[in-house]
Amino acid sequence: PAKPVFAEQVPMGLRTISNIVAVSSCKGGVGKSTVAVNLAFTLAGMGARVGIFDADVYGPSLPTMVSPENRLLEMNPEKRTIIPVDYLGVKLVSFGFAGEGRAIMRGPMVSGVINQLLTTAEWGELDYLVIDMPPGTGDIHLTLCQVVPLSAAVIVTTPQKLSFIDVAKGVRMFSKLKVPCIAVVENMCHFDADGKRHYPFGRGSGSQVVEQFGIPHLFDLPIRPTLSASGDSGIPEVVADPQGEVSKTFQELGVCV
Ligand code: ADP
Repeated sequence: PAKPVFAEQVPMGLRTISNIVAVSSCKGGVGKSTVAVNLAFTLAGMGARVGIFDADVYGPSLPTMVSPENRLLEMNPEKRTIIPVDYLGVKLVSFGFAGEGRAIMRGPMVSGVINQLLTTAEWGELDYLVIDMPPGTGDIHLTLCQVVPLSAAVIVTTPQKLSFIDVAKGVRMFSKLKVPCIAVVENMCHFDADGKRHYPFGRGSGSQVVEQFGIPHLFDLPIRPTLSASGDSGIPEVVADPQGEVSKTFQELGVCV
């Protein structure tokens, strides 16, 4: 795994985490948060100690995608730390749990808020921290990648040829930062109707990514009303239907990270 050269550069609060995995996409709305949340709960289902950090300050999805009883981050005034929200044993930190509405902030402020939330949270001993990155490859990413010793990145995209260009951007960014891209998830690939499998956005750009960039794993996720409904209901699909087709795909992804 790509770790900073000097261990003392890693913020204290992150030193008890074994693997930090970034889930990234270049555009919004391709299913990045859906993948991050389902991956995290799959890893937890496999027995790992897991946290999710929702770095999407402008449009935090985590509060919609999970339904913890207590939805507010609490402060520990003595230690000046943030206590993550708990849902089914997974530790969650999101700006959406900070008790305010959506953020209206300039870029440098956003980076500051992200760093503070991430590094002052009491993560404790974790096997995996899954980071739901903001969409794109901008400043926030660079700052985040400089602060956090990322072990791996998973890139989420949709099958259109146009998305290929975006995936290339994402792969290049992580490779510059010396973070291995271990998998591409092609979301909304197909759906089954009238006894046939339909590929509404075409096929083949995923395998092109794998060939061109040497990314070891490619996963497909179907368009599924249940994936959308589970996102809205606050119970991740892999929790609601642990034996289903989608859960199997996430288990395979879980083994890779
Ligand atoms: P992003 O994080 O990339 O902005 P989200 O994960 O928030 O994307 O997904 C955007 C919307 O699409 C959400 O409402 C989500 O439930 C829905 N969605 C994502 N993937 C699928 C899928 N494979 N099938 C159906 N709905 C999906």
